[in-house]
Amino acid sequence: MKKITIFKLNLFSRLLFLFLTPALFTILNFAFIWHSIFYGSITFIVIIWGVFIIITPLFGRIGCGWFCPFGTVQDLIGDNSIIKIKLKKPLNIIRYFCICSFFISAFIFFFIRIKQGAINGFQLDLFRIPSEFDGENTHLWLYDTLGILFIAFLLGKRVLCRNLCFLGGLSSIGSRFSRLVLVVDKDKCNNCGLCTKTCLGKVDIDYYINKNGLITDTECLKCGKCIETCNRGAISYKLIWNRKKYQKMINSNCT
Ligand code: SF4
Ligand code: SF4
Ligand code: SF4
Repeated sequence: MKKITIFKLNLFSRLLFLFLTPALFTILNFAFIWHSIFYGSITFIVIIWGVFIIITPLFGRIGCGWFCPFGTVQDLIGDNSIIKIKLKKPLNIIRYFCICSFFISAFIFFFIRIKQGAINGFQLDLFRIPSEFDGENTHLWLYDTLGILFIAFLLGKRVLCRNLCFLGGLSSIGSRFSRLVLVVDKDKCNNCGLCTKTCLGKVDIDYYINKNGLITDTECLKCGKCIETCNRGAISYKLIWNRKKYQKMINSNCT
């Protein structure tokens, strides 16, 4: 019987949410967080994406790696982009600009509407957005998906994730502390570089192998692709509560 690997599960999960996107667009499209703030509503989108951000210090960016349909759309392009950008690190200045513009503009409207008496702060209203946007969703979904595909085709997959997405920026802050990390067993690794070449998050895994074996990059999506790619079984998930202690232990075992 064929073994179900973590990455096969990951692929299944990402494709499932991608196919659900047209039907659940206003729940899966996190841009509607802006509209939720505008309407002073705590909607499904706010709750779902809020949970993904809150759990990043524990499980890293699993929302990006297992759930977000816009990340999966970019992966469909693979490595066939017109312009090949080799950016080692994300452009955080652009990311922070996107985060600030998104929330500041939404909250400006929020306070204006409070002053006008249109809303009284935040209220739980899970289905506020679908009732407001019904009928336009199909077009919005099509434009968004085609726009993302175009950017990925032009610049490469996950360039948008690494530089422009405000949720990517927020989740990368929390994932600095992620307790779930990928660990490379340096005794098994032969430095073939395959994992770096195929990494979905474009993480330079070689760098982490040579450093201490812990893949702690904030762009890691916890997708498990590197585990599947490594034919020497050198990479695995590990829950590490105290990274410093773990690294000290590795270093003392090496000496
Ligand atoms: S960075 Fe943004 S677009 Fe990319 S997977 Fe994460 S939430 Fe989705
Ligand atoms: S694919 Fe495996 S053996 Fe090759 S560099 Fe990565 S961890 Fe090492
Ligand atoms: S390092 Fe591994 S788990 Fe993280 S994004 Fe790359 S392939 Fe996925």
